[in-house]
Amino acid sequence: MRTAGPVLLGVFGFPVAHSLSPEMQNAAIRRLGLRCIYLKFAVPPSMLSRALDRAESLGFRGVNLTVPHKEAALPLMDLLTPAARRVGAVNTVTFMGAGRREGHTTDGEGFLRATREDLGFTPRGRKVVVLGAGGAARSVCFALADAGARNIVLVNRTPARAARLARALVAEARIPSSAFRLSGRTPWKRLLEGAALLVNATVLGLHGEDSPVPARFLLRPMAVSDLVYNPPVTGLVVAARSRGLRAANGTGMLAGQGALSLERWTGRRAPLAEMRCALLAALARRDGGQRDPSGTDRTLPGSRPTAYPGRTRPRQAPAWRAYPGRI
Ligand code: NAP
Repeated sequence: MRTAGPVLLGVFGFPVAHSLSPEMQNAAIRRLGLRCIYLKFAVPPSMLSRALDRAESLGFRGVNLTVPHKEAALPLMDLLTPAARRVGAVNTVTFMGAGRREGHTTDGEGFLRATREDLGFTPRGRKVVVLGAGGAARSVCFALADAGARNIVLVNRTPARAARLARALVAEARIPSSAFRLSGRTPWKRLLEGAALLVNATVLGLHGEDSPVPARFLLRPMAVSDLVYNPPVTGLVVAARSRGLRAANGTGMLAGQGALSLERWTGRRAPLAEMRCALLAALARRDGGQRDPSGTDRTLPGSRPTAYPGRTRPRQAPAWRAYPGRI
């Protein structure tokens, strides 16, 4: 059955209430004057296959997938783009007609677009240090490799996971990569030497933790990209700015991946600035206007100034186990 109304788009997640994609996508849809509507759906893991079937039969053009569906969706696709296959995750499903589904991921390209716009960063020939080895780190690393980065250094709490990702990067993307443990004894000076970009792709910062990298090791001209966007200013961003480094939070990546999904479904150039504004406005509403969600250190007009813009007070960094070296 197909609806006669607007073209349907949406996001499936579980939970999904926190998702700001509808605000961001519907702002773009309005700006482009499209007859579309973007909705969010709480889809439990056991219902993903059936929900995709239903969406298709109701005439959806496409859906975004978020936690916990990105990996689970792989076998449910008829066609995977090279990016989705390599990253092992799907965040954008396109219903192509005749019951065929394409799975793609826009996370990595969204990240590249954001770092270019926010930090003026271009990967070609550059060394990048990435904290984390989960899904976001994987997307970022393969995108950096495809964009010509020179080498990638991974630093993660669980070194075996970082080592697995490093091996995959060497084997599948032919980029020199190495893995280290995130600890109180991580040899930051050596690891960050010559790096053009430091990326935080861990959850550290979500709950007001201190910077995982001591500020004294953050040296110009390196730039810093923290994928965390809520809170808008993390301990890492504060530390980087205190040392005069360019630093950006994850709103650019979030808007970038959304823009690329919309472009894939509609064939129209997405209004990225509009999407980002809608995202920041939604974050500010959620926050009650207490913080500037753009991640600058300004306080929003009319809100109460706070000594620390991420939380009232940063928590102590977790006590990582000491582990000296390369794995
Ligand atoms: P994930 O697959 O669950 O990976 C989580 C990462 O955080 C792993 O590297 C994990 O290390 C590390 N970690 C977790 N708890 C830690 C702790 N206490 N101390 C040190 N490291 C810890 O999650 P993900 O999807 O990659 O997301 C990672 C971050 O990126 C999240 O903050 C997420 O919000 C953000 N993100 C942002 C965007 C965006 O558009 N801006 C998109 C995707 C993700 P282990 O391997 O040791 O567990």
